Amino acid sequence: MFGKDRRKQKVLQEGNQQDASAISQNVDESAEILPRRPFTCVKIPGRGFGMVANRDIKKGELILEEKPILTLAPIDVDNNAGEQHVTVAGIMKQYNMLSRSDQNKIKQLHSVSEPKTILGIIQANSFVRGVISEESVLCIESSRFNHSCRQNVSHGYVAEKDVERIVACRDVKEGEELLTCYAPPFDSYSSRQAVLRCHYGFECDCVVCAAPPEERKQNDKLREQFKMLDKRIPEVGSLNPKEGLGLVADALRILEKLDLQLAPLLEHHYYDGFQLAKGCGQMTRAKLFAKKAAEAVAICEGETTKHKKLLSYSKNPSLHINGT
Ligand SMILES: [Zn+2]
Repeated sequence: MFGKDRRKQKVLQEGNQQDASAISQNVDESAEILPRRPFTCVKIPGRGFGMVANRDIKKGELILEEKPILTLAPIDVDNNAGEQHVTVAGIMKQYNMLSRSDQNKIKQLHSVSEPKTILGIIQANSFVRGVISEESVLCIESSRFNHSCRQNVSHGYVAEKDVERIVACRDVKEGEELLTCYAPPFDSYSSRQAVLRCHYGFECDCVVCAAPPEERKQNDKLREQFKMLDKRIPEVGSLNPKEGLGLVADALRILEKLDLQLAPLLEHHYYDGFQLAKGCGQMTRAKLFAKKAAEAVAICEGETTKHKKLLSYSKNPSLHINGT
């Protein structure tokens, strides 16, 4: 399911590893990066650095594609518990193999710990590498985008290109800050605040969180309804595609009301809609859902194999074999 939120990797503490020592604060934090892109990295009062649009940006416009500087894969270190962890030693091994210049770029990022440590930086900035992956990636520029529960950019890892991709999910005016969402988008106000406080060390005062309590309550209710539908669609749809299709329509209506504009989520539900419509023999509807799913994938990933596949289904749904 939707997994573009920043999910903290489990990190196993290993006593007095090298990371326990604080990083020197003697780094150049004034350097701006990426001139001539549609954004500029600037200091934001009370929020460290952030990315601000240096011109108007259209919804769907590609903002950034960035190769990870580090890829962190869990290794099995606890046979008794059968759990996998990213170890501090593993992180430091990779970090020490980087050039001095790349190490300095990492040191400039925000850390959840004070004073800064490499571990604290990774915890604050790593992204999940794909929806079901146990790996995570660290990207320098992508990490500079601050949080809002009503984001104007969406980010996601594209395995086919090994890039973190950031796209505008709304029209953005010059001078506006570009904001992504670090919290699970369908959590309630209090759950989102708890995640942000615990993992990132701040309270969110975005336009959704700062709304009057009654409005916030209504917003929470819609998110809860969406979560329930999201769980029921595969259960119901596998037994009764027609009923499942009705639930997909309900879920899409809620997404529209919430106005989250999240292409990965739309892709997921359009694809569900495609499969269910096809299952009901509603081929015209199936073609339309496949077309919309292809459009959402083009925003999330660009013109990848998945995008081409969905476009082919939009012309001929029979090309689709269940489960692919
Ligand atoms: Zn918020």
